[in-house]
Amino acid sequence: MRIARFTTGEDPQYGVITGDLDEHGQLSEDATIVALAGDPLYVGVKLLDEQHQVSDVRLLAPVLPRSKVIGIGRNYAAHAAELGNDVPTEPLMFFKPNTSVVGPGDAISYPVQSTNVHFEGELAVVIGRICRDVPAEKATDVIHGYTIANDVTARDLQKSDVQFTRAKGFDTFCPLGPWIETDLDPNDFAEGRRVQTFLNGDVAQDGSTKDLIFDIPTLIAYVSSVMTLLPGDVILTGTPEGVGPMLPGDEVEISIEGLGTLTNKVVAR
Ligand code: MG
Repeated sequence: MRIARFTTGEDPQYGVITGDLDEHGQLSEDATIVALAGDPLYVGVKLLDEQHQVSDVRLLAPVLPRSKVIGIGRNYAAHAAELGNDVPTEPLMFFKPNTSVVGPGDAISYPVQSTNVHFEGELAVVIGRICRDVPAEKATDVIHGYTIANDVTARDLQKSDVQFTRAKGFDTFCPLGPWIETDLDPNDFAEGRRVQTFLNGDVAQDGSTKDLIFDIPTLIAYVSSVMTLLPGDVILTGTPEGVGPMLPGDEVEISIEGLGTLTNKVVAR
């Protein structure tokens, strides 16, 4: 099931999308969205008698984390190497504030404090239940679904600040979407799902989730051994090699096989 959040111009609603994805991760023209009663994270999937063409609505960030977005750094060996870092022996965790989240089609605002803002295309895991100390073999029990993230990073500030809060925490630095896919599981990603990032249509990143150093169950076990996870928390699983700078006017598209395509434009602040 593909769960989206959308607006027809009125208050945001949740809905279930039906339709085919083409090889570029774009929905078919005739795709529809059936509205849901309330947030499925809290009330389950309750279909309403209300349907729209997806092309007639505006999709929003499919989850609004009330609590936290947790990033994982250097979780692909080739990406760790391209930034001159060693492969970590344990997952490297950092926070992005929930105020950094925006949706598909929203602008990424280029901050005045940086001159080197990078895209990072990533698989994101959305947590579905309150949980703590989740064993890796039980990780699927606490997963709501999967979506695409751009872990936007001010690379210059990441280096100068040493820790990541400012570099990764600006408003608009966490585009999520276009929806949450609930029908996949960690094995699908361990077997390999292609992760591609396109800058103005040119391929910049072309990796596979099979190259994750720490897989999804390991990440959930690790993070939940430190902090309680809440419904709607998001874990960004790290980016493959090929990160690079983007500038105002650029368009960034991130496609993950089976998850669709997340598109955002960069604008000057
Ligand atoms: Mg990242």
